[in-house]
Amino acid sequence: MSLIWINGQWHDRDSAMISVYDHGLLYGDGVFEGMRVYGGRPFRLEEHLDRLYDSAQALWITVPMTKADMGRVTEEGIARAGISEGYLRHVVTRGVGDLGLDPRSCPRPTVFIIFDTIRIWPRERYEKGLAMISAATPMPDRETLSPRVKSLNYLPHIMAKLEGIHAQMDEVLMLDRGGYVAEASGMNVFIVKRGVVTTPPAWTGVLRGVTRDLVIGLAGEAGLPMREEPINRYDVYTADEAFLTGTAAEIAPIRSLDGRQIGAGPIGPVTRTLMDRFQALTRR
Ligand code: PMP
Repeated sequence: MSLIWINGQWHDRDSAMISVYDHGLLYGDGVFEGMRVYGGRPFRLEEHLDRLYDSAQALWITVPMTKADMGRVTEEGIARAGISEGYLRHVVTRGVGDLGLDPRSCPRPTVFIIFDTIRIWPRERYEKGLAMISAATPMPDRETLSPRVKSLNYLPHIMAKLEGIHAQMDEVLMLDRGGYVAEASGMNVFIVKRGVVTTPPAWTGVLRGVTRDLVIGLAGEAGLPMREEPINRYDVYTADEAFLTGTAAEIAPIRSLDGRQIGAGPIGPVTRTLMDRFQALTRR
């Protein structure tokens, strides 16, 4: 059952409404978070709310409630909806204004939270690994709108995703204008070569995933050498293992990129170790 909180009021899926004059809808002027619920508890709540408030700050939006209150509403919604395993979407928009894009017409940001579930691939994809292609659509330039802002502007990612769908692929790899690996359509990218785990640093212009940061920590706990370094497609083609991380995706192994099979099998030993450790953490 889905439940929605909008500016202090609870709604069900059919009664949850946002004004057509909301600048989140008219201009994509807003920010969001996607968060998992495991065992009835919001997973990494603090990290997600920190990123939500940082994204809002970068867009010069003042969230009209404290992080503590946002956390309380989040927990109340999970209890009200009776969610044990679920997915939440926190959204803060510039608010309701008029038809000009001038944000000064929006006196108060709109805040809503959706309490629901998510599934992006069937279970067997996690056993077989994902077939991917490099998208022709580049990652947005980091000085236009920093990819570190989780904003309501996902069109480049959606264009890339459509390329993948058209090519009958599971997912796409997005590159920045210099050809460096940025991320998948909504996930961070990791490779493993001779036991060393590498992911692009956030400063190169990728969203700093909560799952990404968690996996970096898990790699450390497992005693795996971990590097944050720019990588290019050659590094992925010649990797022993590669995988994606994200709140919705969790950890998903990559089987191939642009037709090149990656490594020896669908799930390499390092990916398997990290998947197992991640699962143990979500069940704790
Ligand atoms: N990159 C993008 C563009 C995303 O939308 C997401 C998912 N929210 C991620 C990476 C992964 O981040 P996280 O692990 O925090 O879900």
